[in-house]
Amino acid sequence: MKRETLRELAALIYPSRCPVCDEVIGANDCFCEKCTGILVRYEGDFLVKGSSGFAAAYEYHPNMEEAVLLMKRGVIGNAPYAFGTAIAERLREKGMDKADLLVPVPMFRSDLRRRGANQSQLIAEEVGRRLGIAVDAKSVVKSVETLPQKELRKREREVNMRGAFTVTAPESISGKTIIVIDDLCTTGSTLAELTSVLLGAGAAAVYCACACKAVEFKDKKTEE
Ligand SMILES: [Zn+2]
Repeated sequence: MKRETLRELAALIYPSRCPVCDEVIGANDCFCEKCTGILVRYEGDFLVKGSSGFAAAYEYHPNMEEAVLLMKRGVIGNAPYAFGTAIAERLREKGMDKADLLVPVPMFRSDLRRRGANQSQLIAEEVGRRLGIAVDAKSVVKSVETLPQKELRKREREVNMRGAFTVTAPESISGKTIIVIDDLCTTGSTLAELTSVLLGAGAAAVYCACACKAVEFKDKKTEE
């Protein structure tokens, strides 16, 4: 048997794992039973500046740090399936599931090369499969390399993201109702900048959705 065939078969039987704790789970499960019990649905009323609505699947919890970090490092596993499924459910519940396009938050070229995949795009593809909405990961790009948001306070985050995104195909954006998809939202600076750029390119409306919302942004530097 060819090596390629063996690998294909191995991929078919390679078990799904819980993206939070790495426990083996059923092929169609999103999280293990224990983590399903720990995950907290996001019920807040956060709204990204300029957007028409916001949905997040879960509150960001330290237990999820590993899953989000693994996604950010490009170790994808079951996370896009699990988080994409949850985001699609929330969008349906909120009546925000009728859009023309899903736009994942783009990554800068060299970051994408280093990581091998854009986790937000993989999540968006799962949301798209669930809701029957096309994913457009080409019409807007991250054209400027920014500092890691994690190290910055809120005001610095806004300045850091300013001018970071460029719409390269305005004809694909103009007149469209768009849902922007991200993995983790903290202050919303990234989503606000992207929303503003999409509206500037003529989008009819922009909604924002993410896998996890940090509910308490601890601005360490200003607290000191
Ligand atoms: Zn788990």
